[in-house]
Amino acid sequence: MPGSDPTVRPEGPAVVLGAGYAGLAVAQGVARRSRGRLPVVLVDRHPVHVLRTELYEIGRLARAGADTGAWTLPLARVLDRRSVEFRTGEVRAIDLPGRSVTLDSGPLPFGFLAIGLGNVAAYYGVPGAAENTHSVYRLTAAQRLAAALREVEVRSGSLPGERRPRVLVVGGGSTGTEVAAEIAATDWRRIAGPGARAPDVLLLTGSLPFLAGFPADVVRRARDVLRHRGVVLVEGWNVTNVDPGRLTIADGSTFAFDLAIWCAGLEAPPPVRSLPVAHGRGGRVMVDPALEVPGVPGVFAVGDSAQVPDPDTGALAPGTAAAALAEAKVAAANLVARWQGRPLAPFRYRERGSLVSLGPGSAAGSVRSVTVWGSPAALLKRLVERDYASSVGRGDPPHLS
Ligand SMILES: Cc1cc2nc3c(=O)[nH]c(=O)nc-3n(C[C@H](O)[C@H](O)[C@H](O)COP(=O)(O)OP(=O)(O)OC[C@H]3O[C@@H](n4cnc5c(N)ncnc54)[C@H](O)[C@@H]3O)c2cc1C
Repeated sequence: MPGSDPTVRPEGPAVVLGAGYAGLAVAQGVARRSRGRLPVVLVDRHPVHVLRTELYEIGRLARAGADTGAWTLPLARVLDRRSVEFRTGEVRAIDLPGRSVTLDSGPLPFGFLAIGLGNVAAYYGVPGAAENTHSVYRLTAAQRLAAALREVEVRSGSLPGERRPRVLVVGGGSTGTEVAAEIAATDWRRIAGPGARAPDVLLLTGSLPFLAGFPADVVRRARDVLRHRGVVLVEGWNVTNVDPGRLTIADGSTFAFDLAIWCAGLEAPPPVRSLPVAHGRGGRVMVDPALEVPGVPGVFAVGDSAQVPDPDTGALAPGTAAAALAEAKVAAANLVARWQGRPLAPFRYRERGSLVSLGPGSAAGSVRSVTVWGSPAALLKRLVERDYASSVGRGDPPHLS
């Protein structure tokens, strides 16, 4: 089995890069499984764990302003400092042969490594996309978007005639859908004043099918809810150019906008993309079935930074928090097994379902192959999110129920 060489036992601490869903769970898992005997250093640019799956809540973010407490958990509260040392720092590069990570503050040598640096927006070379659109993939970006949209709404009362602010959301996956529904459902007068006009929201789904991968009845229900919320879907054409205030799609049509949001794709962040190893889609690190980087014993990659195939079918695990947490559990066990010189176990992802928010009080998705929608689905999604946040806040092993 790949990754089962029990003779390789590097020396040095276990360094975990990224305190997101995957990294936090790996760090805690290694500390627990090694009973605190293997030193663990967790690194992130922020001293908080970001609840990234909730960053589509643009209306709430606009109301919250600088107070991001509802989307973050301070790592000082989450981590047991006796078993995991936390370092705030920017990961600049990873030197695999030299077994050292370059942080903005200097080098950090490692014996074992888990890479959980998530991903960043991919713009696929579309001119102007990075410069002229917002995104929700990071908390700071989602905050900026919320503040910018609030400003657009504050000014909307003085638009000529009946004109309403025009918001374009690019990307017909679950993130684009959630963001479009949320913005359309938000009462902007409560946020931006009584003169604010509700925005016109267009969702440009691109050439991929809308909500690709979701069951047909989930897609149908999502379409119905979006239509009901006034979101217009533009399907079938990728974006080719974004100028300030104007976007072009592949059939030559152009769309004027007051604010555009890029939810069209993701890729591995630069320190991951530049690693001298085999890469998969969007520069994700290809790992073996034990989640170890082939040829580099003791180095694992997890979550959105990794491309994880099923050992039997070859099907790739999805880029979700649920998959990241499942991978983290196995990666932590295998990292400790590597340290102890024991054989490693393969990872198999079992999809239990996923839910797409369709604005406050509404969602659609499937759970254990059963389609759920409407307010029960929204309640279920909220319960899963709250259960995750409170278990992490208590310092329990992170999990999604
Ligand atoms: C709006 C939105 C809604 C979503 N909804 C769902 C959902 O409902 N269900 C679901 O399962 N998934 C959902 N996802 C996907 C989910 O958020 C990701 O799959 C998940 O966050 C992946 O976890 P991760 O640990 O790999 O990455 P992240 O959670 O992104 O963690 C990466 C960490 O690395 C840190 N980092 C990155 N680069 C550096 C660097 N150079 N130096 C230092 N630190 C760095 C970051 O600060 C971050 O803390 C959603 C995503 C978005 C954006």
